[in-house]
Amino acid sequence: MNGRHFVQQRGSEKIFTCVSRYCAECYRELKEGETLYYDLEHYRYLCRDCASRISEARDRCIHEIEESEYKESKTLF
Ligand SMILES: [Zn+2]
Repeated sequence: MNGRHFVQQRGSEKIFTCVSRYCAECYRELKEGETLYYDLEHYRYLCRDCASRISEARDRCIHEIEESEYKESKTLF
């Protein structure tokens, strides 16, 4: 898993209420306590399977994430 693209977070009722309780890619319902992956590029939550699949695809084409973009997403909540 490449840390540049995703931020790992524990699924909590707060995230589910404020953002979404479904994976943005496969629309699977996420469970409380499950590890979620916040996509820094598209500002959405993904389940583990989708995050690792997308991470692999992105690693094939090198992509840089701006430091400021990362900080912005950390202050979202
Ligand atoms: Zn998914």
